[in-house]
Amino acid sequence: MRPVVLVLALLWSWCTIAAPAGRVGAPDPQGWVDLARWGAARGLAPRVAGKGLQLDLVGRSTKISFFADTTRFAFDGTDVRIDIPVRRMGDRFFLAQRVMESTLLPLASPPRRPASRPIRLVALNAGHGGKDPGNIDGHRQEKLYTMMVAGEARRALERAGLQVVMIRQGDSFVELDDRAGKANRAHADLYVSLHFNAIQGAGAREVHGIETYCLTPAGASSTNDNGNHGGPWHRGNRFDRDNIVLARQVHRAVVGGTDLEDRGVRRARFKELTMLDMPGVFVEGGYMTNAEDGRGIYTPEGRTKLARAIVDGVLAYKRLVERGGAE
Ligand SMILES: [Zn+2]
Repeated sequence: MRPVVLVLALLWSWCTIAAPAGRVGAPDPQGWVDLARWGAARGLAPRVAGKGLQLDLVGRSTKISFFADTTRFAFDGTDVRIDIPVRRMGDRFFLAQRVMESTLLPLASPPRRPASRPIRLVALNAGHGGKDPGNIDGHRQEKLYTMMVAGEARRALERAGLQVVMIRQGDSFVELDDRAGKANRAHADLYVSLHFNAIQGAGAREVHGIETYCLTPAGASSTNDNGNHGGPWHRGNRFDRDNIVLARQVHRAVVGGTDLEDRGVRRARFKELTMLDMPGVFVEGGYMTNAEDGRGIYTPEGRTKLARAIVDGVLAYKRLVERGGAE
Protein backbone atom coordinates (compact mmCIF):
# COMPACT_ATOMS: atom_id res chain seq x y z
CA MET A 1 0.00 0.00 0.00
CA ARG A 2 1.39 3.42 -0.94
CA PRO A 3 1.96 5.71 2.05
CA VAL A 4 -0.67 8.22 0.97
CA VAL A 5 -3.27 5.45 0.58
CA LEU A 6 -2.28 4.03 3.96
CA VAL A 7 -2.73 7.42 5.60
CA LEU A 8 -6.13 7.86 3.95
CA ALA A 9 -7.18 4.38 5.02
CA LEU A 10 -6.09 5.02 8.59
CA LEU A 11 -7.87 8.36 8.57
CA TRP A 12 -11.03 6.73 7.26
CA SER A 13 -11.00 4.01 9.90
CA TRP A 14 -10.33 6.58 12.62
CA CYS A 15 -13.29 8.65 11.43
CA THR A 16 -15.66 5.71 11.41
CA ILE A 17 -14.60 4.60 14.89
CA ALA A 18 -14.18 7.95 16.60
CA ALA A 19 -16.83 9.96 14.86
CA PRO A 20 -20.45 8.96 15.02
CA ALA A 21 -20.76 12.17 13.07
CA GLY A 22 -19.74 10.16 10.06
CA ARG A 23 -23.21 8.64 10.03
CA VAL A 24 -25.52 11.60 10.23
CA GLY A 25 -28.84 11.99 8.56
CA ALA A 26 -30.90 8.82 8.39
CA PRO A 27 -31.43 7.41 11.88
CA ASP A 28 -29.22 4.47 12.66
CA PRO A 29 -30.66 2.18 15.36
CA GLN A 30 -27.24 1.76 16.94
CA GLY A 31 -26.03 5.22 16.19
CA TRP A 32 -26.30 8.91 16.76
CA VAL A 33 -28.66 11.55 15.49
CA ASP A 34 -27.36 14.93 14.34
CA LEU A 35 -29.59 17.21 16.38
CA ALA A 36 -29.37 20.27 14.10
CA ARG A 37 -30.53 18.17 11.16
CA TRP A 38 -33.25 16.54 13.23
CA GLY A 39 -34.46 19.97 14.35
CA ALA A 40 -34.34 21.42 10.83
CA ALA A 41 -36.65 18.66 9.62
CA ARG A 42 -39.14 19.83 12.28
CA GLY A 43 -38.82 23.54 11.66
CA LEU A 44 -36.56 24.10 14.67
CA ALA A 45 -33.64 26.43 14.07
CA PRO A 46 -30.30 25.45 15.61
CA ARG A 47 -28.44 28.02 17.70
CA VAL A 48 -25.17 27.23 19.39
CA ALA A 49 -24.89 28.99 22.75
CA GLY A 50 -23.02 28.73 26.02
CA LYS A 51 -19.54 29.22 24.51
CA GLY A 52 -20.19 26.42 22.08
CA LEU A 53 -21.24 23.92 24.73
CA GLN A 54 -24.99 24.31 24.27
CA LEU A 55 -27.24 23.72 21.30
CA ASP A 56 -30.71 25.26 21.29
CA LEU A 57 -33.33 24.10 18.81
CA VAL A 58 -35.81 26.92 18.59
CA GLY A 59 -39.27 26.96 17.07
CA ARG A 60 -42.27 29.22 17.41
CA SER A 61 -43.46 27.65 20.65
CA THR A 62 -40.67 25.20 21.44
CA LYS A 63 -37.14 25.44 22.73
CA ILE A 64 -35.05 22.37 23.36
CA SER A 65 -31.58 22.88 24.83
CA PHE A 66 -28.81 20.27 24.78
CA PHE A 67 -25.66 20.53 26.86
CA ALA A 68 -22.46 18.89 25.61
CA ASP A 69 -21.31 15.80 27.52
CA THR A 70 -24.18 15.93 30.02
CA THR A 71 -26.91 13.39 30.69
CA ARG A 72 -29.73 15.89 30.42
CA PHE A 73 -31.56 18.24 28.11
CA ALA A 74 -34.14 20.95 28.72
CA PHE A 75 -37.46 20.57 26.92
CA ASP A 76 -39.32 23.89 27.04
CA GLY A 77 -37.62 24.56 30.35
CA THR A 78 -38.21 21.12 31.89
CA ASP A 79 -35.06 19.30 32.98
CA VAL A 80 -35.09 15.79 31.44
CA ARG A 81 -32.48 13.26 32.51
CA ILE A 82 -31.08 10.71 30.03
CA ASP A 83 -28.61 7.85 30.39
CA ILE A 84 -26.29 8.48 27.42
CA PRO A 85 -24.54 11.87 27.35
CA VAL A 86 -25.20 14.38 24.59
CA ARG A 87 -22.16 14.28 22.30
CA ARG A 88 -20.52 17.29 20.71
CA MET A 89 -18.13 17.20 17.76
CA GLY A 90 -17.04 20.70 16.80
CA ASP A 91 -20.24 22.69 16.54
CA ARG A 92 -22.40 19.63 15.92
CA PHE A 93 -24.38 17.92 18.63
CA PHE A 94 -25.54 14.30 18.65
CA LEU A 95 -28.09 12.35 20.63
CA ALA A 96 -27.96 8.56 20.91
CA GLN A 97 -30.63 7.02 18.72
CA ARG A 98 -31.97 5.03 21.68
CA VAL A 99 -32.45 8.20 23.74
CA MET A 100 -34.03 9.90 20.75
CA GLU A 101 -36.62 7.13 20.42
CA SER A 102 -37.35 6.59 24.09
CA THR A 103 -37.36 10.19 25.27
CA LEU A 104 -37.06 13.07 22.83
CA LEU A 105 -39.38 11.82 20.08
CA PRO A 106 -42.35 11.13 22.39
CA LEU A 107 -41.91 14.58 23.95
CA ALA A 108 -41.70 16.26 20.54
CA SER A 109 -44.56 14.20 19.05
CA PRO A 110 -46.74 13.00 21.93
CA PRO A 111 -48.75 9.83 21.35
CA ARG A 112 -52.49 10.17 20.76
CA ARG A 113 -55.18 8.13 22.41
CA PRO A 114 -58.04 6.78 20.35
CA ALA A 115 -61.19 8.88 20.83
CA SER A 116 -62.93 5.74 22.07
CA ARG A 117 -60.58 5.49 25.07
CA PRO A 118 -60.54 8.81 26.92
CA ILE A 119 -58.83 8.99 30.30
CA ARG A 120 -61.53 8.51 32.92
CA LEU A 121 -60.07 6.64 35.90
CA VAL A 122 -56.90 7.59 37.76
CA ALA A 123 -55.28 5.30 40.34
CA LEU A 124 -53.76 7.32 43.18
CA ASN A 125 -51.13 5.66 45.33
CA ALA A 126 -50.26 7.29 48.64
CA GLY A 127 -46.75 5.91 49.15
CA HIS A 128 -46.03 3.59 52.08
CA GLY A 129 -48.57 3.05 54.91
CA GLY A 130 -49.22 0.82 57.91
CA LYS A 131 -46.03 -0.90 59.09
CA ASP A 132 -44.03 1.00 56.42
CA PRO A 133 -43.64 4.66 57.45
CA GLY A 134 -41.51 5.59 54.42
CA ASN A 135 -38.98 8.33 55.07
CA ILE A 136 -38.75 9.69 58.58
CA ASP A 137 -37.62 13.14 59.66
CA GLY A 138 -37.80 13.49 63.44
CA HIS A 139 -41.34 12.48 64.38
CA ARG A 140 -42.65 13.01 60.87
CA GLN A 141 -43.46 9.99 58.73
CA GLU A 142 -43.74 10.12 54.95
CA LYS A 143 -46.80 7.82 54.85
CA LEU A 144 -48.95 10.44 56.60
CA TYR A 145 -48.10 13.25 54.17
CA THR A 146 -48.48 11.13 51.04
CA MET A 147 -51.97 10.20 52.25
CA MET A 148 -52.94 13.81 52.83
CA VAL A 149 -51.72 14.86 49.39
CA ALA A 150 -53.53 11.89 47.83
CA GLY A 151 -56.76 13.02 49.49
CA GLU A 152 -56.34 16.53 48.10
CA ALA A 153 -55.48 15.19 44.66
CA ARG A 154 -58.51 12.92 44.73
CA ARG A 155 -60.84 15.84 45.37
CA ALA A 156 -59.21 17.92 42.63
CA LEU A 157 -59.46 15.07 40.11
CA GLU A 158 -63.10 14.46 40.97
CA ARG A 159 -63.86 18.16 40.62
CA ALA A 160 -62.35 17.91 37.14
CA GLY A 161 -64.79 15.12 36.33
CA LEU A 162 -62.43 12.16 36.64
CA GLN A 163 -62.93 9.03 38.69
CA VAL A 164 -60.33 7.95 41.22
CA VAL A 165 -59.33 4.64 42.72
CA MET A 166 -57.29 4.95 45.92
CA ILE A 167 -54.64 2.24 46.14
CA ARG A 168 -54.67 2.33 49.92
CA GLN A 169 -57.40 3.43 52.29
CA GLY A 170 -56.27 4.90 55.58
CA ASP A 171 -53.08 3.85 57.29
CA SER A 172 -52.84 0.37 55.77
CA PHE A 173 -49.92 -1.51 54.28
CA VAL A 174 -50.19 -2.72 50.69
CA GLU A 175 -47.42 -4.73 49.02
CA LEU A 176 -45.85 -3.01 46.01
CA ASP A 177 -47.06 -5.63 43.53
CA ASP A 178 -50.57 -5.38 44.98
CA ARG A 179 -50.48 -1.63 44.42
CA ALA A 180 -49.93 -2.14 40.69
CA GLY A 181 -52.33 -5.10 40.80
CA LYS A 182 -55.12 -3.01 42.26
CA ALA A 183 -54.70 -0.36 39.57
CA ASN A 184 -54.61 -3.06 36.89
CA ARG A 185 -57.72 -4.84 38.19
CA ALA A 186 -59.59 -1.54 38.31
CA HIS A 187 -58.57 -0.91 34.66
CA ALA A 188 -57.29 2.51 35.63
CA ASP A 189 -56.19 4.70 32.73
CA LEU A 190 -53.29 6.30 34.64
CA TYR A 191 -51.32 5.58 37.80
CA VAL A 192 -49.91 8.33 40.02
CA SER A 193 -47.70 7.44 42.98
CA LEU A 194 -47.04 10.07 45.64
CA HIS A 195 -43.89 10.20 47.75
CA PHE A 196 -41.53 12.53 49.57
CA ASN A 197 -37.77 12.34 49.58
CA ALA A 198 -35.30 12.51 52.44
CA ILE A 199 -31.53 12.42 52.56
CA GLN A 200 -29.09 11.99 55.43
CA GLY A 201 -25.45 13.00 55.80
CA ALA A 202 -23.24 16.06 55.64
CA GLY A 203 -24.84 18.89 53.69
CA ALA A 204 -27.89 16.77 53.01
CA ARG A 205 -30.32 19.31 54.42
CA GLU A 206 -29.41 21.62 51.55
CA VAL A 207 -30.75 19.17 48.97
CA HIS A 208 -34.24 20.16 47.85
CA GLY A 209 -36.67 20.04 44.97
CA ILE A 210 -39.02 17.80 43.05
CA GLU A 211 -38.00 14.65 41.19
CA THR A 212 -40.52 12.99 38.91
CA TYR A 213 -39.87 9.42 37.84
CA CYS A 214 -41.19 7.17 35.15
CA LEU A 215 -40.16 3.66 34.22
CA THR A 216 -36.69 3.26 32.71
CA PRO A 217 -36.93 2.09 29.09
CA ALA A 218 -35.68 -1.46 28.39
CA GLY A 219 -31.93 -1.49 27.82
CA ALA A 220 -31.42 1.92 29.45
CA SER A 221 -29.92 2.74 32.84
CA SER A 222 -31.94 4.33 35.61
CA THR A 223 -31.05 7.91 36.52
CA ASN A 224 -29.71 7.15 39.97
CA ASP A 225 -27.70 4.06 38.92
CA ASN A 226 -24.04 4.81 39.06
CA GLY A 227 -23.00 1.96 36.83
CA ASN A 228 -24.20 1.64 33.27
CA HIS A 229 -26.03 -1.66 33.56
CA GLY A 230 -28.96 -1.40 31.21
CA GLY A 231 -31.96 -3.43 32.20
CA PRO A 232 -34.69 -5.81 31.11
CA TRP A 233 -38.08 -5.23 29.53
CA HIS A 234 -41.06 -5.01 31.88
CA ARG A 235 -44.76 -4.97 31.13
CA GLY A 236 -44.85 -1.30 32.10
CA ASN A 237 -42.49 -0.63 29.17
CA ARG A 238 -45.44 -1.03 26.79
CA PHE A 239 -46.27 2.54 27.79
CA ASP A 240 -42.80 4.07 27.43
CA ARG A 241 -43.98 6.80 25.08
CA ASP A 242 -46.83 7.78 27.37
CA ASN A 243 -44.80 7.42 30.56
CA ILE A 244 -42.29 10.10 29.61
CA VAL A 245 -44.98 12.49 28.38
CA LEU A 246 -47.05 12.00 31.55
CA ALA A 247 -43.99 12.45 33.75
CA ARG A 248 -42.97 15.60 31.95
CA GLN A 249 -46.45 17.15 32.15
CA VAL A 250 -46.77 16.42 35.86
CA HIS A 251 -43.24 17.61 36.53
CA ARG A 252 -43.71 20.84 34.61
CA ALA A 253 -46.98 21.58 36.38
CA VAL A 254 -45.40 21.04 39.81
CA VAL A 255 -42.33 23.15 39.01
CA GLY A 256 -44.63 25.90 37.75
CA GLY A 257 -47.25 25.62 40.49
CA THR A 258 -45.13 25.26 43.64
CA ASP A 259 -41.89 26.63 45.05
CA LEU A 260 -40.11 23.33 44.44
CA GLU A 261 -36.83 23.40 42.53
CA ASP A 262 -36.60 21.37 39.31
CA ARG A 263 -34.50 18.26 39.96
CA GLY A 264 -35.52 16.68 36.72
CA VAL A 265 -37.71 14.10 35.05
CA ARG A 266 -35.90 10.89 35.93
CA ARG A 267 -36.02 7.16 35.27
CA ALA A 268 -36.30 4.30 37.71
CA ARG A 269 -37.46 0.69 37.75
CA PHE A 270 -39.61 1.06 40.86
CA LYS A 271 -41.41 -2.23 41.24
CA GLU A 272 -44.90 -0.77 41.05
CA LEU A 273 -44.07 1.01 37.77
CA THR A 274 -42.67 -2.18 36.20
CA MET A 275 -45.98 -4.00 36.67
CA LEU A 276 -48.49 -1.47 35.42
CA ASP A 277 -50.98 -2.05 32.61
CA MET A 278 -51.29 1.71 32.10
CA PRO A 279 -48.99 4.77 31.95
CA GLY A 280 -47.61 5.66 35.36
CA VAL A 281 -45.67 8.37 37.16
CA PHE A 282 -43.92 8.50 40.53
CA VAL A 283 -43.66 11.90 42.19
CA GLU A 284 -41.10 12.70 44.89
CA GLY A 285 -42.71 15.98 45.90
CA GLY A 286 -39.83 17.53 47.81
CA TYR A 287 -37.34 16.68 50.55
CA MET A 288 -38.69 16.19 54.06
CA THR A 289 -35.16 16.89 55.30
CA ASN A 290 -35.02 20.39 53.78
CA ALA A 291 -36.56 23.36 55.58
CA GLU A 292 -37.72 25.09 52.41
CA ASP A 293 -39.43 21.98 50.98
CA GLY A 294 -40.78 21.20 54.45
CA ARG A 295 -42.84 24.39 54.37
CA GLY A 296 -44.70 22.85 51.44
CA ILE A 297 -44.96 19.33 52.83
CA TYR A 298 -45.89 20.14 56.41
CA THR A 299 -48.54 22.82 55.83
CA PRO A 300 -52.08 22.32 54.46
CA GLU A 301 -51.55 25.20 52.02
CA GLY A 302 -48.36 23.63 50.70
CA ARG A 303 -49.96 20.22 50.25
CA THR A 304 -52.97 21.73 48.49
CA LYS A 305 -50.65 23.55 46.10
CA LEU A 306 -48.73 20.36 45.37
CA ALA A 307 -51.85 18.22 44.91
CA ARG A 308 -53.45 20.74 42.57
CA ALA A 309 -50.27 21.07 40.54
CA ILE A 310 -50.02 17.29 40.15
CA VAL A 311 -53.64 17.19 39.02
CA ASP A 312 -53.00 20.09 36.61
CA GLY A 313 -50.22 17.98 35.11
CA VAL A 314 -52.49 14.95 34.78
CA LEU A 315 -55.13 17.10 33.08
CA ALA A 316 -52.53 18.65 30.75
CA TYR A 317 -51.41 15.14 29.77
CA LYS A 318 -55.03 14.11 29.22
CA ARG A 319 -55.67 17.08 26.94
CA LEU A 320 -52.47 16.46 25.03
CA VAL A 321 -53.01 12.78 24.27
CA GLU A 322 -56.75 12.94 23.74
CA ARG A 323 -56.61 15.80 21.25
CA GLY A 324 -53.09 15.33 20.02
CA GLY A 325 -52.93 19.11 19.80
CA ALA A 326 -50.19 21.55 20.67
CA GLU A 327 -49.32 22.09 24.30
ZN1 LIG B 1 -41.64 7.08 49.48
